[in-house]
Amino acid sequence: MPDSLMTPRDFLQTVVARTLSFKRKPHMKRSLLVALACLPVFAFGQAQAQTSATAPSAVQDLSGVSGPPMLGIHWARGFDPSPRLREASKQARRSKSPLMTYHGGKIMPSSNTEAIFWGSSWASSPGDKISGMDSWYPGFSNSNYAKTSVEYTGTNGQVGPMSNYGGHVIDTSASASGANTSAILAEVCKIVTNPDPTGNGYYAVYTDTPRGSAGYCAYHSVGSCSGVPVQFAYFFKLDGDTGCDPQDTSGLHSQGLAAIANVSGHELAEAITDPASPGAWYDSSGAENGDKCAWTFGGPLVTFSNGSQWKIQGEWSNNAYTAGTGYPNSSGQSGCLGGQ
Ligand SMILES: [Zn+2]
Repeated sequence: MPDSLMTPRDFLQTVVARTLSFKRKPHMKRSLLVALACLPVFAFGQAQAQTSATAPSAVQDLSGVSGPPMLGIHWARGFDPSPRLREASKQARRSKSPLMTYHGGKIMPSSNTEAIFWGSSWASSPGDKISGMDSWYPGFSNSNYAKTSVEYTGTNGQVGPMSNYGGHVIDTSASASGANTSAILAEVCKIVTNPDPTGNGYYAVYTDTPRGSAGYCAYHSVGSCSGVPVQFAYFFKLDGDTGCDPQDTSGLHSQGLAAIANVSGHELAEAITDPASPGAWYDSSGAENGDKCAWTFGGPLVTFSNGSQWKIQGEWSNNAYTAGTGYPNSSGQSGCLGGQ
């Protein structure tokens, strides 16, 4: 990319900084940026009036960003945001190191998590999902799976394996689609009246909204509630959704729980290693540790520290790639650790 050209990443940063009082440097994949530009209806909802006359047309629709950026989007299986950009990404992979590099920001030395189950159906028909995630989050703490991210450091120290789960809250008001990230942040700020002042609060919003035609299963993002920085994540209801199904055949969980458990690992691992402005760990195409190992698994099940078992994708480890000890991701790069 010539230096004289503004990259989509830089453009989005400029637009976001100009239209919002939001300082994070977005670091979505370039392919993602264009995909979002082409599909603003699923990405950011309705465009706002503010547009830039000088914006490159390919990304002009991003001026309608109505909230914090979607980060580390967990694409549905087989979803192809843009064949041309996918090819460009392949070429980039051939010529560049697959290692993630550090971008100067903080990491989460530990995380303080909370789950928000948003939507009218959670009170009447939660199935095994609420109880399941109430086991998933405490079990993540100090698990081998959590330890797949501990090699990464930031300005505030090193990623650690510990995570504190503060339990769940059910909000039976109608849940929103994930397309408007501001609406999800607003829900977090409504429910979490005293967010973790350390900035290590991570609030996972599980909705009862089906994915529909959206190309992604979940994403994580960052914002603030009354000036306190918060990490948050959005999850669709994935019941019967073959595009976001890890195909857990253990019989331990309903399919819908198994699906949100898998994407929960992806998003939490990414939030821990790449949580906030100006970004910490991602590769030359903007992929975070979860993205780089999406839809690949180190084994049939991961056993958490509390004995609960889940089928969860692995996470990218620079160390494992360098040492040749990881399992291959979908590009054949052996840098994934399953956390078994
Ligand atoms: Zn991701």
